[in-house]
Amino acid sequence: MVTQKTTEPLAKRRCHRCHGSGRTPCTICRGTGQVLKGTDPRGNKLYDRCGGCFGVKTARCATCGGEGFL
Ligand SMILES: [Zn+2]
Ligand SMILES: [Zn+2]
Repeated sequence: MVTQKTTEPLAKRRCHRCHGSGRTPCTICRGTGQVLKGTDPRGNKLYDRCGGCFGVKTARCATCGGEGFL
């Protein structure tokens, strides 16, 4: 008797932090994609692209390592 495998049940549990997406909002820029670099002589705020997420605003989930499952 052959048991046909269709959808294999996930042995891993969905990550509670990213809910399986593998991505979490960047903690460095807090999900804005940019970080405050400073102010110019006129007092205007200067922003730089976030070095943590490279402007993508999300970072790989540290809990599951980007897998989405634990
Ligand atoms: Zn960032
Ligand atoms: Zn995760």
